[in-house]
Amino acid sequence: MPTIRPLPPQLINQIAAGEVVERPASVVKELVENSLDAGATRIEIDIERGGIKRIQVRDNGVGIGREQLALALSRHATSKIASLSDLESVATMGFRGEALPSIASVARLEIVSRTADEPHGWRLASDGSEQAGAPAPAAHAPGTTVEVHDLFFNVPARRKFLRTEKTELGHVEQLLRRMALARGEVAWRLQHNGRTVFDLPAGAAGKDDWATAGVGRLRALLGEGFVAHGLTLDEQAVDLRLHGWIAQPAFARSQGDMQFFYVNRRLVRDKLVTHAVRQAYQDVLHHGRHPAYVLFLELPSWQVDVNVHPAKQEVRFREGRQTHDFLFRALHRRLAAGVEPMLSVGLT
Ligand code: ADP
Ligand code: MG
Repeated sequence: MPTIRPLPPQLINQIAAGEVVERPASVVKELVENSLDAGATRIEIDIERGGIKRIQVRDNGVGIGREQLALALSRHATSKIASLSDLESVATMGFRGEALPSIASVARLEIVSRTADEPHGWRLASDGSEQAGAPAPAAHAPGTTVEVHDLFFNVPARRKFLRTEKTELGHVEQLLRRMALARGEVAWRLQHNGRTVFDLPAGAAGKDDWATAGVGRLRALLGEGFVAHGLTLDEQAVDLRLHGWIAQPAFARSQGDMQFFYVNRRLVRDKLVTHAVRQAYQDVLHHGRHPAYVLFLELPSWQVDVNVHPAKQEVRFREGRQTHDFLFRALHRRLAAGVEPMLSVGLT
């Protein structure tokens, strides 16, 4: 007769890690989302060997107090939600309280953090198994640095799936490009093996975030072609708002590599969205060509369920049909109105 026994906590975390930690880019995603949730205005990502050797994310966010540090590394502990109703209207990127313990179960992790009212920071390290003791004092500006070494050093099966340094770096870059497009108010820097890959200043405060990112950031991340063919868009219907940039059909691509769609600033892949966009472009695109766009859909958080996918790349709209039709109409109308490239409307 089979024996049923509870799994050891370490193994539980490693199972959870299987869902959220696929490669260095997924670690970067979780750490950077934490920085954004902490209100950071500057995020510095420093990686070695495509992130396989080392990933460091440093922010100037609110930090974590000494007595909370150990909790940050424990499973299902979060400062972001406390009840089901919080979950139903979650506004932060994180809420599952799983990322740090998951990462810590498949890599060596060190966290140094300081809140604004502490004279110095506190450091806590974990080596993939047991959490190492109590926090020790450490020098740090207000904010948090998380360093992750030797991803999957204790999970050989997973390690085998890592690709070359170049491929892994490519994934990290692509991820950060997506995040930086949506967060113009944040300064971003990526370094790889000590070399700066990009260093993007924060946009001017006070304006709308997407406009804040400005044409400068679009140019840096998507290139001159997109900027030259970009149309600005801003449409509102009751509590839905769609804004951002769409490229004129002349800038259509042979692949869907310039399609960025954010729901409440979270990048998502969604069939309903893809369908609405495709339909709007239907009459103006040749078969097999893909439109380029950076679009932000804003809607009340209760209208969208983000708790669908562990990595939160999928969402579910409560009013799917209505959302689809709104997207279609907004895009269709903008495309029909046609040529006012963003440069000519002075949005620089
Ligand atoms: P979640 O983000 O789902 O809450 P995580 O495991 O990613 O779970 O993080 C656990 C907790 O640690 C967070 O809820 C937050 O309070 C704290 N934390 C993690 N990273 C940071 C950071 N960069 N700055 C401030 N607090 C952080
Ligand atoms: Mg998180």
